[in-house]
Amino acid sequence: MISFRPKTAYDKDAVLVLLGSGQTHPRFKKDLEKGEVYPVIEKGRVFLFAGLGNTDKLSLTDLRIQVRKALLSGYLKKARSVEIVPHSKNDTAIISIIEGVAIGTYVWDKYKSRDKEDKTVKDKHITINAEPKKAFLDAVNICQGVSLTRDLVNDNADTITSDYLEKTVRGLIKGHKPARLEVLNRKELKARGLNLILAVNQASNKEPKLIIVRYDGAKKNEGYTAIIGKGMTFDTGGLNLKPTGSIETMKIDMAGAAAVCGLLRNALALKIKKNLLFVLGVAENSIGSAAYKPGDVLTGYAGKSVEIGNTDAEGRLVLADAFAYVVKNYKPSKMIDLATLTGACVVALGFDYSGLFSNSDELARELMEASRKTDDRAWHMPLYPEIKEYIKSPIADIKNTSNIKGAGACTAAEFLHQFTEGTTWAHLDIAGTSYADGHGRMYYGHGATGAGVRLLTHYLLHN
Ligand SMILES: [Zn+2]
Repeated sequence: MISFRPKTAYDKDAVLVLLGSGQTHPRFKKDLEKGEVYPVIEKGRVFLFAGLGNTDKLSLTDLRIQVRKALLSGYLKKARSVEIVPHSKNDTAIISIIEGVAIGTYVWDKYKSRDKEDKTVKDKHITINAEPKKAFLDAVNICQGVSLTRDLVNDNADTITSDYLEKTVRGLIKGHKPARLEVLNRKELKARGLNLILAVNQASNKEPKLIIVRYDGAKKNEGYTAIIGKGMTFDTGGLNLKPTGSIETMKIDMAGAAAVCGLLRNALALKIKKNLLFVLGVAENSIGSAAYKPGDVLTGYAGKSVEIGNTDAEGRLVLADAFAYVVKNYKPSKMIDLATLTGACVVALGFDYSGLFSNSDELARELMEASRKTDDRAWHMPLYPEIKEYIKSPIADIKNTSNIKGAGACTAAEFLHQFTEGTTWAHLDIAGTSYADGHGRMYYGHGATGAGVRLLTHYLLHN
């Protein structure tokens, strides 16, 4: 829990004082190096002084990292309530401190027995010495959307099933008038010919689903922006089975759909004044005698036949059907998808930058700006006319794998592009950014990061 008050009161269990070089505090006169912390105990209360170094050179990323480090340090571990005294009154600095707290100290410990004395930050009451401005309250709210996404990604694949995701969406929109729901289950998907989603899911004992929330936040004549998430609740790779070393983290293959849940939550909480569609394409890519097979040629909702080059390239199939259905039935003016789509994107960009692809330079520019503002990082990757040659098939209209080695993130994006029907569109490949596996990078800690949620909330608020 995070709250604000303009003045210091020193009435909490602990006080965290952030100090840039040259800044002092009545209780502390030394100059600390960046990253250095120094505790002073006064009448049982811990004052932890945390050095930020030269604040002119301190990036907002670094500020989040320093806040996280200090809060997780042994000195503050047992404190139930912490007052934070910022080094600056600047709005972007305060927002970064909020994110350092809310994102930096998130923990996934549902299945972990722990020492009752240790208070993770979700048990703590954090009070930040700042005016309770709308921008700050919004930042806290946005981080709650990020945490929802992280919880969904971090939990077991057999817990976060398609039914669970539907229940989550129903829970989010309950009592909210501007939101309406359409859910297509196996029966409806079959009747309407969404055969690509059905094929991917056909060895699973779980229901495939296309979940669509229409959110009317603006006037009727304003176009809809569709936010579409890949929701592979587990991806074995199918008959092109993933090997040990690749399969262990595949519960995260629904991080796109989980981000859509976080974004839906944020749109409702912040009452975003836009017409929006929140779409989750949900399936489980399992193995067994019923599994779809490499070499199959399948025709989905768009009417294009697809040669299956590899059953592990399943996310683009689910998204192709989702795109085609949404375009035909909801006619959005824009579509933005989030998907843990390709290992190739991780090869190209690693874990800190999502791959951004778009058929609109303007939309790409706006998303890049939102990415820079939020530190939810993305990098603009190329799409170009010739690339569609690489996903040609001699026996079908298109192929779900590429005929060349390399550029796997780009050819996957081009596959999606072929199902946009000319709609302005952007694609975020979050395969690398959605999860920090073992290597707690930047201020994210371990596990799911909520990639895309801050970026797109910001985009929807400001564009
Ligand atoms: Zn796959």
